[in-house]
Amino acid sequence: MPDIKIKQAVILAGGEGTRLLPLTKTIPKPMIEFYGKPFVQNLIELLKKEGIEEIVFLAGYLHEKIQEYFGDGSGFGLSIKYSVGDVSFDTGKRLKFAEGMLDKHFLLLYCDNYLPLNLSKLVEFYNQKQLLVSCLIYSNEDGFTKSNIKINEEGVVTLYDKKRDSQELSGVDIGFFIVNKQIVDNMPEDNISFQEIILKLVNMKQLAGIITDYRYCGLSKMERIPIVEKFLKPKKIIFLDRDGVINKRPPKADYVKKWEEFEFIPGSIEAIFYLKKKGYTLYLISNQPGIARGMMTKEDLDSVHKNMKEKLLEGGASIDGIYCCLHGWDDGCKCRKPKPGMFYMAANEHNIDLSKTIYIGDDERDKVAGEAAGIKTYLVTEEKNLLNVVKEVVL
Ligand SMILES: [Mg+2]
Repeated sequence: MPDIKIKQAVILAGGEGTRLLPLTKTIPKPMIEFYGKPFVQNLIELLKKEGIEEIVFLAGYLHEKIQEYFGDGSGFGLSIKYSVGDVSFDTGKRLKFAEGMLDKHFLLLYCDNYLPLNLSKLVEFYNQKQLLVSCLIYSNEDGFTKSNIKINEEGVVTLYDKKRDSQELSGVDIGFFIVNKQIVDNMPEDNISFQEIILKLVNMKQLAGIITDYRYCGLSKMERIPIVEKFLKPKKIIFLDRDGVINKRPPKADYVKKWEEFEFIPGSIEAIFYLKKKGYTLYLISNQPGIARGMMTKEDLDSVHKNMKEKLLEGGASIDGIYCCLHGWDDGCKCRKPKPGMFYMAANEHNIDLSKTIYIGDDERDKVAGEAAGIKTYLVTEEKNLLNVVKEVVL
């Protein structure tokens, strides 16, 4: 089968949102506003960026509020259509009701979960797996919520537990599904939920799941609202690599073990000062395997950073947080670049939308790690130091 491209996104947006009363008394859940924008607009902008050309809202409760705001989508750079069903419709029925409007393969999502989706990665996975549905699963390693899903080594979901009380679960589905329309054609007309369809797919071994460590931001209940507020709050964030960007790179297989070995690259203090003046929050993202290799201690590293911060302060500059991978080359950790783990750690800790951040490194591995996390990544070179890069990419 030739590779499938996904151009249509179908958004489940018809529910009454009773868990969010009184916010949902006069507007439907997706229209709850944050920083002057309905929640779902963040999703629409994201989908447009990811190459989606058409959105179908599966609307119901107070559907006219969504239609009035988004219209035919032309103001948002894509086409928007509406399938308006009865408020009593459950999610599965809502999808079946829109059958005539659906592409052969489409992205299905809930209106109340946001995460900086990498659609091409999910589509690539769908094309590889060749199952009826592929979905995105949050690893939930930090116990952010209760898990509801278990997958096997091949990425096939083997258990879906609505009650979320089974012991063997290891992740939670976050509602971004690539769907083969066949499942809609074969659905009954009854008023069923999409979860029931998922259960059937799991029994048929037709649901594949790809895991992300990126925590989503969900508008499911009142307690979540402050997190959503923090996550969607506009922020200016830049991640910086350390060695080769701020200070001179130590020789290969050696490390900056003490302050005397730390040498600022010309322009780096000025660059950090410049970024702070522009209102950026700065996080350092650095591999420091010297500790795992027994060449230095964690105390040595902390002492280098303490001195570095003091020196930066003298130049009026500062760093807001430091993330270091202390593992060795072969430890198989998730944080050592080129893996993106440290970015997810920072994102989950500070509620950051990584797709709206920048990373500046000096190594091909920085590029791989940054891009894997959906971050616009730039490299300094012999000719272009941090200050040059910063002046180029930051206005
Ligand atoms: Mg480096």
